[in-house]
Amino acid sequence: MEQKILNYLPTKAFNVKDQSSNDCIFNDVCFKEMVDASPLGIFVSDEYGCCVYTNTAYHKISGMTFEQILGTQWSVPIHPEDRPRVIAEWRASLDRDTPFQTEFRFVKKDGTIIWTRITRAAMTSGMESNGHVQTVEDISERKSIDCILSTAEEELFEEKERAQVTLNSIGDAVLATDIDGNVTYLNLVAENMTGWSRDEALGQPLSEVFKIIDGATHQEAVNPAKRAIDEDRIVELSADSVLIRRDGFESPIEDSAAPIHNRHGQVTGAVIVFHDVSESRAMMLKMSHLAQHDFLTGLPNRALLTERLSQSIRLAHRHNKRVALMFLDMDHFKHINDSMGHLVGDQLLQSAAARLKACVRDTDTICRHGGDEFVILLSEIEHPQDAAQVCETLLTAFTKPHLIGEHEIYISFSIGISIYPDDGMNADAAMQNADTAMYHAKANGRNRYQFFIADMNTQALHRLFVENSLRRALKQGEFLLHYQPQINLVSNALIGAEVLIRWLDPNLGIVSPMQFIAVAEECGLILPIGNWVLREACRQVKEWIDSGLSAVPVAVNISALEFRYKSFLDGIALILQETGLPSEYLTLELTESILMQDADSSTSVLQTLKDMGVKIAVDDFGTGYSSLSYLKRFPIGTLKIDKSFVCDVTTDSDDATIVSAMIGMGRNLNMKVIAEGVETKEQLAFLKSHECQEGQGFHFSHPLPADDFALLLDTDNQKLP
Ligand code: C2E
Ligand code: MG
Ligand code: MG
Repeated sequence: MEQKILNYLPTKAFNVKDQSSNDCIFNDVCFKEMVDASPLGIFVSDEYGCCVYTNTAYHKISGMTFEQILGTQWSVPIHPEDRPRVIAEWRASLDRDTPFQTEFRFVKKDGTIIWTRITRAAMTSGMESNGHVQTVEDISERKSIDCILSTAEEELFEEKERAQVTLNSIGDAVLATDIDGNVTYLNLVAENMTGWSRDEALGQPLSEVFKIIDGATHQEAVNPAKRAIDEDRIVELSADSVLIRRDGFESPIEDSAAPIHNRHGQVTGAVIVFHDVSESRAMMLKMSHLAQHDFLTGLPNRALLTERLSQSIRLAHRHNKRVALMFLDMDHFKHINDSMGHLVGDQLLQSAAARLKACVRDTDTICRHGGDEFVILLSEIEHPQDAAQVCETLLTAFTKPHLIGEHEIYISFSIGISIYPDDGMNADAAMQNADTAMYHAKANGRNRYQFFIADMNTQALHRLFVENSLRRALKQGEFLLHYQPQINLVSNALIGAEVLIRWLDPNLGIVSPMQFIAVAEECGLILPIGNWVLREACRQVKEWIDSGLSAVPVAVNISALEFRYKSFLDGIALILQETGLPSEYLTLELTESILMQDADSSTSVLQTLKDMGVKIAVDDFGTGYSSLSYLKRFPIGTLKIDKSFVCDVTTDSDDATIVSAMIGMGRNLNMKVIAEGVETKEQLAFLKSHECQEGQGFHFSHPLPADDFALLLDTDNQKLP
């Protein structure tokens, strides 16, 4: 078969002999071998396009044998999707008689698809067409490389586009340079901020386009791109950088420069990213001021004080100087705030802050520590006496009133002072010690200053211990009440009792109120404690009444804080109502100083109590300051002569005179008089001879537990002397 074709071909189809004068080379066999040796597939077709010959390479490409191909159309293996295009091109080339070359997907016998390129030439004999010869080349490999390249190109384009759009739409300015520091790129923001268009800037030295100076010194700043390139790392611009625009306009900027690397990791340039921080810098300054200053007074706050104190201590240490820390607490501020309102309170604090400021050097720090507390830091002083001097100035300055609206308000401060390094080697100790000293200044009568002394810490610790123990005692019910009989000195009858609190501490045993009432008052725990005492006393007396005993009125001690507490009266009414005790069984003991603190408001509270049927006794009478005119006005039932007078009544003629005067005064004011602390027969005799009606003291009875006292209420069982 093959032989038959060969016989037919060389002379007829290729007309080789006609084209060449070299007869000997192109005999039939030689031609077949030559064609088979070709790496290109060869497909010879007759003038209708039907196969008359194919070479070995074509068989390889198509996966078919010559027999399978012979007589088939050349276009059979064209992929259906490519066929219409390829046929159209083929026809066009025939019409125009031009050479034909095209690429299409070739479907092999086993269905796999490869890319091929075919070239066609016509075989003619004179004017007559003898068919076509096509070369077929497998170009799959090239095609797939083309495909990869075009995908990569596409991706690269997209990536570039994305970068471009991103760089132009971000708020930051971006500027890039080559390794020599010449500008290679600017985004839109960078154009606006530098005043250079991209076209103008490209190739210019960076120092021309991106001029920066140090905002503080106004000196030219170090070029960050150069540093990023030289040091091959990201470089932050110095915090105070200012960019000078092409027209001279200055804008504070912030940000960084980073090196750009090539594929081999070598630095090829740098990119600077920066933004205008005029607004954020102003905001930052404002924020940092707010974070470090008190809103109301504008003074430094605790955070700034801590910073300055540490700094002062460091400096003092280096220069061998001292630092004084003064802790100031305004006296009775709460009272002013409660009675005049917060607005007046706030204005008063502002006025006080201004006055404090005027008393110290500019280099000293005044801080509002919170509420009505201020701290003054005197840096680098020579002697502790320097701090005393400042305190004197302060206390004098505050002798003048503050004018708030139409009010003239007098205020004073209690000041505690601690000195570094004398009283503590660090900031915490200095603060703690100044606070402790201030607390002592308060306890010693306010409106004064007090230097810290080491012993105070022991006292402060003790106080803290007591406070914590009291909280526990309240929670665990460790308090109990004792009742001390009060006697009618004429009839010797039991006419009442004073209620005295006791604390049964699991470790210490019975603790006297002298050891904890003051602490309870300072830390406010006296409110819940006092409430418990009142309720328990009322409950107990009601129980005695209910159990048929001939109960007597009881006197409960009330502290200043309780008396001034806004719901004091409501509390009393509630307790009476809840326990069901008739109010005539309740007396309240108040000291003169409590009553005189705010005499007008005392009058109204006492009046309400009287209206409720509750009686009032003035405790420790004679030890405090009282005004006779007020005493007259207060609805007081009883004066209790303090035991310090009674104690010496038989030995000290002054005390004897005072006691008899007090008895006379009570009689004139129409008040009952009871002598406290009656211990001896002699004292009793003196009191009786001066017509004092009532007495209370160890001579009659020590304070008794409730059960023991109840025995006295059983009239058949009375055991009093
Ligand atoms: P006070 O109100 O003046 O109570 C009288 C104090 O004198 C009591 O001390 C009592 O035990 C003591 N006493 C009584 N007779 C004599 C005597 O003949 N000679 C001597 N030397 N002392 C006598 P106590 O119980 O230690 O109470 C001390 C203070 O504690 C009380 O003084 C009172 O101010 C306060 N207190 C006691 N219980 C309470 C309470 O429940 N609430 C409040 N706020 N204070 C209380
Ligand atoms: Mg009392
Ligand atoms: Mg007393």
